Amino acid sequence: MAAMNIRVIGAGVAGLTIAYAFARAGSAVEIVERAAAPGLGCSYVAGGMLAPWCEAESAEPLIVSYGIEALTYWTQDVPIAYQQGSLVIAPARDLPDLTRFARRTSAYETYDGAAIAMLEPDLEGRFERALFFPQEAHLDPRAAIAKLSALLAAQDHVVFRFNCDAEAMSGNVDWIIDCRGFDARDHLPDLRGVRGEMLMLRTREIGLTRPVRLLHPRYPVYIVPRGDGRFMVGATMIESGQGGVMTARSALELLSAACTVHPAFGEAEIIEMGANVRPAFADNLPRLRRSGRTWFVNGLFRHGFLLAPALARRAVDVVLKGAYFPEIMDADPRERQRA
Ligand SMILES: Cc1cc2nc3c(=O)[nH]c(=O)nc-3n(C[C@H](O)[C@H](O)[C@H](O)COP(=O)(O)OP(=O)(O)OC[C@H]3O[C@@H](n4cnc5c(N)ncnc54)[C@H](O)[C@@H]3O)c2cc1C
Repeated sequence: MAAMNIRVIGAGVAGLTIAYAFARAGSAVEIVERAAAPGLGCSYVAGGMLAPWCEAESAEPLIVSYGIEALTYWTQDVPIAYQQGSLVIAPARDLPDLTRFARRTSAYETYDGAAIAMLEPDLEGRFERALFFPQEAHLDPRAAIAKLSALLAAQDHVVFRFNCDAEAMSGNVDWIIDCRGFDARDHLPDLRGVRGEMLMLRTREIGLTRPVRLLHPRYPVYIVPRGDGRFMVGATMIESGQGGVMTARSALELLSAACTVHPAFGEAEIIEMGANVRPAFADNLPRLRRSGRTWFVNGLFRHGFLLAPALARRAVDVVLKGAYFPEIMDADPRERQRA
């Protein structure tokens, strides 16, 4: 079969992983991005948590099974992740929440205060109990986007077109893979926005080495070490399609959660605040949806880095081999459930 010509719209994590999968399958790939550089959309503010087992607390089993594929992808295919596990903690008054979290998840070890201190010495004496998920990982999303972009740029049948709006593109290709995230809402009327905010702190007083998730009554708050004394604190979840800047309330909530994990965060510098809109469908599951010669890959919600590798693999199989994945292809809901 002659090599396919593929146009990928959007150079976020979805677009880049898909472009890379098509390039590796031998297709000629053109990546069209409205911004001047890759990864400046929702992917820019992500935490980079690769925590499929923790996500089972509130997400469908599909997120766990697809998410597990991301661990191999981001440690071997595009090696950029740190597989050091993640730690889930709760203040003493919220220990029943930790028990509930444990009931809904798997692949963890229960730690007491001494074991927590062995793992993360800076948390010594602060928490009585924790769940440790040893197989989970994390990455720096901006480094991951840079790595994927470099791998793509090194292929001779891949071209990037920056500062280029998809609506202005012409010229024939075999297939268009539309990965423009929340900006695809004019084409996908059932796509909704879930606003997320994060902040970046810098302190030399704390040396956490792996992501710490604090159980919080409204949304999971996690602190992800980014090296050089920097810690990403995220993320709010607000039903809204408004991006913009972080609100005072969200800053207050995230900062107070960080100080619950360790009071020295109170002295940290705030070096960045960010907000963006996660693209989501009603059930918070991703979709591959066809319209003519275009496949929309969207709805990655709070799982962009976690799900993109599994979606990319399947998108290639669907387009090049005619494969069918009922769980992500708007099949009959009963078929989705069985899959
Ligand atoms: C605060 C926060 C924390 C998060 N933390 C995590 C986490 O820890 N782990 C995780 O897995 N996920 C996380 N997520 C979710 C993750 O960021 C998203 O699921 C993911 O970024 C969505 O990727 P995308 O490629 O679909 O969209 P985007 O990253 O938004 O990319 C879409 C791209 O399309 C481009 N575009 C739009 N319109 C056009 C057009 N007309 N023509 C050309 N280009 C166009 C945009 O410029 C953009 O670059 C988080 C999200 C937020 C907001």
